[in-house]
Amino acid sequence: MNRDDLLDLFRRCSALLDGHFRLSSGLHSPGYLQCALVLQHPRHAATLGEALAEPLRELRPATVLSPALGGLIIGHEVARALGARAIFAEREDGVLRLRRGFTLTEAERVVVVEDVVTTGGSTRETMQVARAAGAQVLAAAAVVDRSNGVSSLDVPLHVLMSLSLPTYEPAVCPLCAQGAPLTKPGSRQVAVR
Ligand code: ZN
Repeated sequence: MNRDDLLDLFRRCSALLDGHFRLSSGLHSPGYLQCALVLQHPRHAATLGEALAEPLRELRPATVLSPALGGLIIGHEVARALGARAIFAEREDGVLRLRRGFTLTEAERVVVVEDVVTTGGSTRETMQVARAAGAQVLAAAAVVDRSNGVSSLDVPLHVLMSLSLPTYEPAVCPLCAQGAPLTKPGSRQVAVR
């Protein structure tokens, strides 16, 4: 599955929109990505999971660990493709941890899988959860890397595609300057080119 196939899939699922968006950060952007709109289709989730599992297979991970909520579905699909276990970490009082009786054993071979890497912060935090439990983190993987290469991790990061969507302060937004209508993502459906 090459980059064009992926972009086409994302656009067909309205998971990648073109327009003029106000992001939750308050910044404006000509593009909006919502991975969940691809992963809502189990068939697509399985396809992406199989593709992401390929570079991880030779690492022979016993367990895929994902951060909730974004990493749940893709983590599960990657684990299915690898024949591994899928568990997740979730926040409790603002701290990411294993709950629900999930455990990792000493030196257990773990890969961290999520949907989108933005800054790498949640990836690092999830890796720390595994290491604190004594496991060894072999690699991280994500469907989309939006970090522009800044997500410096101390393990290899495997992604299906990197995507750089520009963001602007509203005062200097070129789309505002053109008078393009502003949309808050998720508030209504937007036509896709
Ligand atoms: Zn704008």
